[in-house]
Amino acid sequence: SFVSREQLATENAMMRLEARKRLSSPEFFEQRRARQSLPCWMERQKIVDAVAINRVLVLTGETGCGKTTQVPQYVLEEAELQGVGAEVSIVVTQPRRIAAVSVAERVAWERGEAVGKSVGYVIRLESVPPRARGSILYCTTGILLRRLQKADGMAGVSHVMIDEVHERDVDTDFLLVVVRELLENHPSLRVVVMSATLDASVFTRYFNCCPLVNIPGMTYPVKVFFMEDLPQIMGPNSLVATRLNMARTSGSDDEDVDCELVASVVLFVAQYYAQEHGAILVFLPGWDTINIVRDKLLKTPLFRSLMVVAVHSQLPAGEQRAAFARPPPGMRKVVLATNIAETSITIDDVVYVVDSGKIKEKQFDASRNMTTMRVQWTSQASARQRQGRAGRVQPGVCYRLYTRAIYQTMREHQIPEMQRVPLEELCLQIKAIATPSVVAGTASGDGDGTGNQNEFNYASTGISDIATFLSKAIQPPKSSAVHAAIKVLQQLGAIDQNQNLTNLGKTLAKLAVHPRFGKMLVYGALLGCLDPLLTIAAAACFRDPFVVPVSRREEADKMHESFARGPAYGSDQLVLVSAFNQWVMANSMGLGNSFCDAHFLAPMTMRLIAGMRKQFERTLSEAGLYEPWFRTSSPDVGAQVARCLLTAGLYPNIARSELCRESKGMKNATKHAYRWRLGFRVHNGRVFIHPTSVVSEKHLNPNTQYYLVFQEKMQTSQVFVRGCTLLPPLAVVLLGWNVTICSDAGPTVLNGDWMLLEVEGWLRFHIDRRAGLLLLQLRH
Ligand code: ADP
Ligand code: MG
Repeated sequence: SFVSREQLATENAMMRLEARKRLSSPEFFEQRRARQSLPCWMERQKIVDAVAINRVLVLTGETGCGKTTQVPQYVLEEAELQGVGAEVSIVVTQPRRIAAVSVAERVAWERGEAVGKSVGYVIRLESVPPRARGSILYCTTGILLRRLQKADGMAGVSHVMIDEVHERDVDTDFLLVVVRELLENHPSLRVVVMSATLDASVFTRYFNCCPLVNIPGMTYPVKVFFMEDLPQIMGPNSLVATRLNMARTSGSDDEDVDCELVASVVLFVAQYYAQEHGAILVFLPGWDTINIVRDKLLKTPLFRSLMVVAVHSQLPAGEQRAAFARPPPGMRKVVLATNIAETSITIDDVVYVVDSGKIKEKQFDASRNMTTMRVQWTSQASARQRQGRAGRVQPGVCYRLYTRAIYQTMREHQIPEMQRVPLEELCLQIKAIATPSVVAGTASGDGDGTGNQNEFNYASTGISDIATFLSKAIQPPKSSAVHAAIKVLQQLGAIDQNQNLTNLGKTLAKLAVHPRFGKMLVYGALLGCLDPLLTIAAAACFRDPFVVPVSRREEADKMHESFARGPAYGSDQLVLVSAFNQWVMANSMGLGNSFCDAHFLAPMTMRLIAGMRKQFERTLSEAGLYEPWFRTSSPDVGAQVARCLLTAGLYPNIARSELCRESKGMKNATKHAYRWRLGFRVHNGRVFIHPTSVVSEKHLNPNTQYYLVFQEKMQTSQVFVRGCTLLPPLAVVLLGWNVTICSDAGPTVLNGDWMLLEVEGWLRFHIDRRAGLLLLQLRH
């Protein structure tokens, strides 16, 4: 947007005045004191100079030293004092939603403002953006990547700061590739890459041996105890001693966390250091273990003196804030956290760390179409990171609930996410990114004062070759995984044989959900049953809204099943739709939260689903696909159509029932006793329906042939499918991809009127011959 030189001069002058006031007026004393006590402060000039001289800079420093909150401020302040404040516009990316919000709030406070003036945030479904000039924007990495789909996405941006790069999430690794290319075409762009791990050589090497600034930590020594050291201080009769003996005789169990043990160590610390201050930070792998440990702590006689708070990425911001609060006098704060508290969230008063050593990690194997979600040992790097959290205010203590021997077997670093997840969404995003190419000879002054001296012409085709592009990532994914993803995108029709983005692909890229679900939404819009599908696709973007408190599992399961009536019978997705619709009704009467309480639903997730639905609806109507007047008249009919269309969204994730013979009771030498039981099979083996599903083999008729689609195939102790919906078989034939007639000689006639169809070489349907032939014609 155009801005006159006079306007710019006025803004610059104003900003200079304000900056001077912040640095000297007594009004800002408290803010200054907080800021100047950070380790970053001593390096202020060095950082500002390095950013000015270098186009790319890697900055390292321990969590809490002030990278995220201070570095953008230093750069902006420096410009303000120089009288060019309005020419700076900084974008800082964060891997996590809540981090972006809480950091923006903090920085706004430090600048004595409300969020939305010179400091703002944008995350999906929630945005308080700052002014355009002279500002700092904190956004999720995904938001910046989306912005880059537009040709002028970087217009006016002077600095990009990519934060928390050590986390190595897909979006950040992707952004690093993009930014490395951007640097070549945006001569005025400056990039700062920030990492909380000391070993940042991977990043400096990645940017052609760019300079590195390290902020020396101001940390105190932390005393580390391994599991085998604990009986000495906790006593030979303590639980930890018993567990050590058990581990010696039976070998250690790699899977779950020993919550009993964690609780006992926390209680020990609370009692042993009863006379001293300091919060206890406990690292656990996930929400379920956090709940179990919390329950155990609250059942002890000590519970009155404990202030137990949880920190978890799915927690609403309000509850998250409790973790930062000081405990009331005489109380001990115990923070139960996932690895989010390792680097992205800093709790100020931690002195003791209890580290379970575990992490919950999802890993996807493209060749088996299988997700594994395992609780496993974390890496040595993250163990050290966790330990460091204890030494921020005074010398601290770290209790590791694993032995030295186990520590030695841990991986050095975490595997980057890009090597662990399905890549369809990433590959589609790659195709949707606008690629700049400088048009020779058109460089001109732009007059908007943003410092951009060139005009760019953006190719509309995006990046031409996905695999080549991905091979430029720091640690590229396996090429087999990339090709599997490309194949899926081609089967969906999102890209063509030459990897060009199709019209469908452009719409799917805008939808910000897995392209399979995107295609399901497109079908839904065309067939007038969009409403349930919006809910299903939106829910797929977030965590399961059904929360199951460990202590009230049966009650919660019953509530969950109560939604599985009528059109939602035998469908996890439609159960969700039914729960959502009832919540909307309750909410309109102001009863949303009590409805959630009664039905074990997470209100936060319900609100996110509602917001996401609106966003999908908007995108579909922008694509010209959405006719608000054209809808099925009854929600029940809509649900049945939606059920069939789930095939489009989830294909080829299909299982069919079969009778399995299993031995019954003790095997007798002469006589074997068997019973027949209904089970499910996918093309390469047996699967079990996950216990959280409303579909259960127990309730199905063993004499009927069932088909179901599932959202995810997951290996834990067994291979489970989750997110299941029973389907009419003809829907599979109509909407699946690769249907062949079994016999080469033409339709196999069985019993006169039946034919045999085969889908993807393994799913066989005996169907009415007339229907089968008709279906095959429909598909052409
Ligand atoms: P880094 O990015 O290096 O990990 P940050 O810039 O996030 O560090 O934080 C620097 C310091 O600012 C923290 O150590 C903490 O003292 C303070 N801080 C950050 N966010 C908040 C907050 N929301 N509330 C209170 N203090 C905060
Ligand atoms: Mg940070």
